[in-house]
Amino acid sequence: MADHTPSPAIGGPAHPKAPPFRVGHGYDLHRLEVQAPAGKGRPFILGGVILEHTHGPISHSDGDALYHAVTDALLAAISQPDIGQLFPDTDPRHESQDSSIFLAEAARRVAQAGWNIGNVDATVILERPKLSPHKQAMRANIARLIAAPLDSVNIKGKTHEKVDAVGEGRAVEVHVVTLLWR
Ligand code: MG
Repeated sequence: MADHTPSPAIGGPAHPKAPPFRVGHGYDLHRLEVQAPAGKGRPFILGGVILEHTHGPISHSDGDALYHAVTDALLAAISQPDIGQLFPDTDPRHESQDSSIFLAEAARRVAQAGWNIGNVDATVILERPKLSPHKQAMRANIARLIAAPLDSVNIKGKTHEKVDAVGEGRAVEVHVVTLLWR
């Protein structure tokens, strides 16, 4: 028989039978433009790695879409305010901010809430440059910032088959899921 005990009201305490797991999903997209000084794009940084490219993200912070999506996945899993609420892009303190600060803060909040990071799985959708030479460095950067073993962080690279903004090289898109455990 299914347990039909009503769930607690929103904002109430956790259900006594709540599982010892939480999942979180994070998503980010940044527009890519020709890098300064010819254009408005920043240096192209992704997962803490500087990518050699003509284009870079338009952003208030350093525009690291991979760090941003992992940050949001972790915050989502513990039902805390998202990256845009915690670090608003209207705040001059976050101008050109190194996004590792955001990710480390999300991991700190996860630990403070009593959760452990089981794994993080990211899909980066980017037409150019190729992600494969940089994946290991990106994994290592994320694992270090969230204090998790390297093999709990996975990154997959995809293209967008030359269609739509991402496929035309005008944006980078990242999807992340994470599992936390008690
Ligand atoms: Mg972002």
